Amino acid sequence: MDIKRVGVIGAGAMGSGIAHVCALAGYETRLSDVSQERLDGALEKIADSMARQVGRCQITEADRAAALQRLSGAVGLDQFKDCDLVIEAATENEKVKKEILASLSRVLPPHALIATNTSSIPITRLATATDRPGKFMGMHFMNPVPRMELVELIRGLATDPETYEAIKAMTKRLGKTSASAEDFPAFIVNRILLPMVNEAVYALYEGVGSVEAIDTAMKLGTHHPMGPLELADFIGLDVCLAIMQVLYEGLADSKYRPCPLLVKYVEAGWLGRKSGRGFYDYSGPNPVPTR
Ligand code: NAD
Repeated sequence: MDIKRVGVIGAGAMGSGIAHVCALAGYETRLSDVSQERLDGALEKIADSMARQVGRCQITEADRAAALQRLSGAVGLDQFKDCDLVIEAATENEKVKKEILASLSRVLPPHALIATNTSSIPITRLATATDRPGKFMGMHFMNPVPRMELVELIRGLATDPETYEAIKAMTKRLGKTSASAEDFPAFIVNRILLPMVNEAVYALYEGVGSVEAIDTAMKLGTHHPMGPLELADFIGLDVCLAIMQVLYEGLADSKYRPCPLLVKYVEAGWLGRKSGRGFYDYSGPNPVPTR
């Protein structure tokens, strides 16, 4: 199947990144969100982010200008009525996503594919909200999308082989490498990464090491670019907790029990970088450990 026009729903961190790479790869790209204000902000960020790529000589000014020409944003789903593929990257909430998928099904042409960027909601379950489970699958991009090489591809129970092959080919055209994951809680990357982050919080909780000691140990001892607590703050502690809960409930194994200290930080509203405070305090020029 020939994908030419791509829609992206949700202009947050992920949707903006996905629209960015689609437009650069030559797809006519349409972005939607709940308000024009959010869309304007997202389009400005994409233009700035492409300008930085020009500065780093990763793309030319002509590539940037052409990509921005191919990119547009509007509120509502009408703009997707001639799209070949729509990628849903709205807020991680099952009810919100199911409503979007049901409305989208009514607007899209019959041949169009739908993908979701969900991190934790079962693909097979989301597929039931569409009118085309065979043309639906997971396309899990990593954050930040323009920089990260991987896209996890997840088939639901009903996904057709043709859908998978079309999305796999598109992933390659985006310059990304795909890895296939089965429709199990948290797929591959988060299934392995989040328990490590949770274990780092347990190590802090039990006094094995301070924030600084744990992050230094993992950065220099395992060559991770960020320590696990710094990474938790980057992902968002609420997101980390939500993924641990999905693993704990979905796999019914006590080894995935969220650390009580992680729960406490989330209850305090200390969500990491986005709230200005998590395992580090971001109010000054340099992050300062909070424990
Ligand atoms: P975000 O909160 O930054 O953005 C979500 C956007 O969706 C917001 O702009 C919101 O206004 C919009 N939205 C909500 N309801 C909508 C609707 N009905 N129609 C259109 N837009 C709507 O979230 P994010 O971090 O970009 O995550 C988006 C998705 O990507 C989630 O499913 C998340 O699990 C997944 N994901 C996130 C990451 C990450 O590291 N942040 C990584 C991989 C996948």
